[in-house]
Amino acid sequence: MAYQFKMECYPRRIRVKIEYDSDIPSNLRPQIAREIKESIKSPCSCGCDEVYVSLQARNLLDVKCYDCGTSFFELELEIDEETLEH
Ligand SMILES: [Zn+2]
Repeated sequence: MAYQFKMECYPRRIRVKIEYDSDIPSNLRPQIAREIKESIKSPCSCGCDEVYVSLQARNLLDVKCYDCGTSFFELELEIDEETLEH
């Protein structure tokens, strides 16, 4: 999967710490982290710079503030169905 990084200058680089739901497979986490870093340009209004990724459905994640629970966005995962079906 190819990612294109936009060369843009942000006033300040946001370093987001990410906590994952234990149900989220570890091989998907680097992809999720990339999406989060691309999408979150400013920390939560409560000042927390830590996000929690919870699994809503098999391929739907909710990215929210670790502190106050404000949802940033939902993230749909591209999962190879064959790896999940048994
Ligand atoms: Zn918050």
